[in-house]
Amino acid sequence: MERLTPVEQKAPGAWQIGTVTRVKEETPRVKSFLIELPMWMAHLPGQHYDVRLTAPDGYQAQRSYSVASSPLDEGEIELTIDRLDDGEVSPYFHEVVVEGDQVEIRGPFASYFVWRGESPALLIGGGSGVVPLMAMLRHRRRTMPELPMALVYSVRAAEDVIYEDELGEETTLTFTREPPADWTGHTGRIDAELIRSAGLADGMVFVCGTNGFVESAVELVLAEGVNPRQVRTERFGPSG
Ligand SMILES: Cc1cc2nc3c(=O)[nH]c(=O)nc-3n(C[C@H](O)[C@H](O)[C@H](O)COP(=O)(O)OP(=O)(O)OC[C@H]3O[C@@H](n4cnc5c(N)ncnc54)[C@H](O)[C@@H]3O)c2cc1C
Repeated sequence: MERLTPVEQKAPGAWQIGTVTRVKEETPRVKSFLIELPMWMAHLPGQHYDVRLTAPDGYQAQRSYSVASSPLDEGEIELTIDRLDDGEVSPYFHEVVVEGDQVEIRGPFASYFVWRGESPALLIGGGSGVVPLMAMLRHRRRTMPELPMALVYSVRAAEDVIYEDELGEETTLTFTREPPADWTGHTGRIDAELIRSAGLADGMVFVCGTNGFVESAVELVLAEGVNPRQVRTERFGPSG
């Protein structure tokens, strides 16, 4: 189909040295990093890269981060990283990495949790689980804005909303702990009513977040009668 962005699936690239060209503070504990890649290749929305840190003594730590940007942004990718205070890699990005720095990176990976533009989609994200969903949302806006896509996004508090300026009419937010002072929308965990009101797309359902979040969201979606084959999940870490 002409309208779909032609993103071929290739073998992921080798390790390469990317350059951080911009650092954006999204929330008090989340930053986005725009990274220029010398061996860039188009990704599918939903795919991730691996980042590798090497200490002076040779010790290495490697973690996966979803691409937040559209593959139409040639030559660069955006990664959005939630800081875990007791973590190895995420605090390094938050405390050490600044514009102009170089990072070792490899990707894009994954062929399952990807949206190829083939169908409408319901996106359900918890916390930083919104990152790969944002790649889908951004890409859909730029390539096929008429295709139905809804995002249900659960955050803890007003200050935790990532990509706040970009959330449009397709997004339903719910605050599980502290909503903004003047908030009249949803509060509490995602429930069946919230999923129904977002409109169960006649297409794919993508769910991303912690294990616990993914499990309960998938249970709700399946209880609505969605075929399990239409549901794709990505888990970012231990339950929480
Ligand atoms: C496919 C994939 C895509 C991912 N995309 C993103 C992304 O876009 N943005 C992002 O911020 N993270 C993402 N993650 C999570 C990321 O890979 C790391 O696990 C995370 O940044 C923690 O790494 P760390 O080295 O800081 O902490 P670690 O040193 O690995 O862990 C520190 C402590 O935190 C716990 N922990 C680890 N991960 C989590 C978590 N996600 N939530 C709560 N506790 C945790 C560990 O059990 C440990 O106790 C993704 C993971 C996968 C598998």
